[in-house]
Amino acid sequence: MSNQASTKPFAERAAVALRDTFLQEALTIATTKFIGLRKDSFAGFPQGEALRDRARAIKEATLQRLDDYLERLADNVERLGGHVHWATTGDEARETILRLCRDRRVKMAVKSKSMATEEIELNDALEQAGVVPVETDLGEYIIQLAHEKPSHIIAPAIHKTKGQVADLFSREVGQRLPADPEVLTAVARKELRQKFLQADMGITGANFAVADTGTIVLVTNEGNGRMVTSLPRIHVAVMGIEKVIPSMTDLMVFLAILARSATGQKLSVYTTLVRGPRQAREVEGPEEFHLILMDNGRSRQIAGELREALYCLRCGACLNVCPVYRQIGGHAYGHTYPGPIGILLTAMLKGDRAVKELAHASSLCGACHEVCPVRIDIPRMLIELRHRLDRERIAPLAERLVFKTFRRLLTSPALFRLSVALGRVAQRPFVRNGRLRSLPLVFAKWTRTRDLPPVATQTFTQRWKGLR
Ligand code: SF4
Repeated sequence: MSNQASTKPFAERAAVALRDTFLQEALTIATTKFIGLRKDSFAGFPQGEALRDRARAIKEATLQRLDDYLERLADNVERLGGHVHWATTGDEARETILRLCRDRRVKMAVKSKSMATEEIELNDALEQAGVVPVETDLGEYIIQLAHEKPSHIIAPAIHKTKGQVADLFSREVGQRLPADPEVLTAVARKELRQKFLQADMGITGANFAVADTGTIVLVTNEGNGRMVTSLPRIHVAVMGIEKVIPSMTDLMVFLAILARSATGQKLSVYTTLVRGPRQAREVEGPEEFHLILMDNGRSRQIAGELREALYCLRCGACLNVCPVYRQIGGHAYGHTYPGPIGILLTAMLKGDRAVKELAHASSLCGACHEVCPVRIDIPRMLIELRHRLDRERIAPLAERLVFKTFRRLLTSPALFRLSVALGRVAQRPFVRNGRLRSLPLVFAKWTRTRDLPPVATQTFTQRWKGLR
């Protein structure tokens, strides 16, 4: 997607996505595969449910003493020779990295996949500062070549088909390549090897940061995380403050459920544990290690209604099962974090106004809650968010009036009975073969893509009386 798309209304972006047959094909294949893999993985893992409860409890307990754990983490990183930077806003986090680049004359930075750096739009800032950012995760590399944004939390190029990737790579290397994943991966591998050796800085996110030991944990499948953290002379890790966990024992709990939820693997192929810069007797590792602890609106939510969203492990499972995401993909959401959890994270980071349309991009079916490894109750918070939009008068006037009228009708038995009786009469011209197929005025959108059953001839109460 281009950023341009995000300036259009959500309904337009969604309509464009729904008409894109390539996108529809790519989304269906990928999300269906992820759903199956996750299901099989948990089916053969009886302790999984108890571990999900445990993981949730750890997240909650950590949030209750977040300041303590962050200080412990910072102390331990510094004890290992690293530098800790506190960033209240995304701008501060980005500025810290740019300052490091300037002071250390960095010309090229290799990156492993990181939603935190997407959040602060780091690549654009690096380019403007004369630093070449190179994404080294295969999916991120693809979308960097396409000048797009990620459309899924763990599979950034999920919206691309093999053929589209072959076109991109062919353009990059100047020769026609087949749509064969092995060939294309080999091309990316060759192109990227040299970059790892040239880069002055490696930039990563952090899946977890262990307070007790000062360890930054990266969970990847491609091995690029290891190169990014060990080959360049400087390593910078950027993480949201909610990623801290107390101990290595807790880490084991999260590792047991994260990859299963994301890709159905027992463990991801690589789990990289970074402890500061290269130590005296070590043969590899960076000369400098910097950890950026970014708040960017998170701490405001600790006592707020969206608190639970801070448990998120960014596994992407809720996107795969969401009937809305599965149809429109990530770009139509128009922000860094897509899918149902993305709506909450966007509200958290950018304020409620940013999601006044997106708050309704959910059927509230509960599938996201069911698969979330830490059982985040996303539907409950989406309802809360809608409530807030109404309360703060952010939702459009027409929407507020319609819902106020509904509430009035549904909370007054007399008005409800009257409206049902009126509805029965008013619907007559529109009922064809026992269905409402096309309604006028404000109701037209409801019947544009679906039929509705007509108002029943008897209400439940009337039938109940008859039965008795
Ligand atoms: S909300 Fe839950 S399912 Fe969705 S990305 Fe976060 S941890 Fe995964």
